Amino acid sequence: MDGKINIRGVYFDNVNMNEAMEKVKEMVNTDGLSYMFTPNSEIVQNCIENPELYEVINSASLVIPDGIGVVYASKVLGTPLKEKVPGCEVAEKLMEYAAKTGDGVFFFGGGKKTDEQEAVSTLAASKMCEKYPGLNIVGTRDGYFTEADVPSIIEEINASGAKILFVCLGAPKQEKWIYDNRDALKVNFAAGLGGTLDVFAGIAKRAPEFFLKTNLEWLYRLLCMPSRIGRMMKLPKFLFGTMIKKTRVLMINDIKDS
Ligand code: UDP
Repeated sequence: MDGKINIRGVYFDNVNMNEAMEKVKEMVNTDGLSYMFTPNSEIVQNCIENPELYEVINSASLVIPDGIGVVYASKVLGTPLKEKVPGCEVAEKLMEYAAKTGDGVFFFGGGKKTDEQEAVSTLAASKMCEKYPGLNIVGTRDGYFTEADVPSIIEEINASGAKILFVCLGAPKQEKWIYDNRDALKVNFAAGLGGTLDVFAGIAKRAPEFFLKTNLEWLYRLLCMPSRIGRMMKLPKFLFGTMIKKTRVLMINDIKDS
């Protein structure tokens, strides 16, 4: 894991937003599948509790810290990451880039079409095309399917000629999906991007500037969706576990020195 920073067993790329974007563009322009994951504290804690997930997450070419908890943990462990790099911001910058290059984009994930509304992926596509004229969205597919549907979904993605694939099924479902299907996918670049299509579609809102600037986006999300409290308890669990781990290392070094 050359040049990566190990945070509780997950290997992160120590990149700022611009460096992450350079790597993403390079992957988009290189034949053969490369993919990006964007773990936050909850996902790292998931790995700690389900170690088989490490292989999935660490298989990505680019792993960026999508949350301030991971950045805090990197400081506690004495191997600081440069900054938080939110996946949905990388995704948006990539849309701006793809509108210039004309590279085909496929949106996979989010809610199905209802009587009242288009599928989230379709809505996200039309909003993004409006915002970035020239954007070439070559396919969309909602994220609710059975195992039996997977071959046809892959066929649809491959036949679309997309170079860029967003997989938005929530974590860790989207990461496992990309990992399990990595040999069949014919896109150059794929990314697991959680609720990004909901944000693109205007269904979910990113936190207001104040919460983003003060690193309190997690608090805003909790206030908007109190039902996430169970999931979000993984954040203090992760940070507390990291502090205990660091204290143990310091104690062991102290004993060795004495
Ligand atoms: N989703 C999906 N298929 C599923 C489960 C979830 O397409 O089987 C979608 C869901 O509609 C939402 C996104 O995945 O658009 C999950 O968003 P969330 O903000 O929970 O992402 P996370 O925080 O897990 O990254």
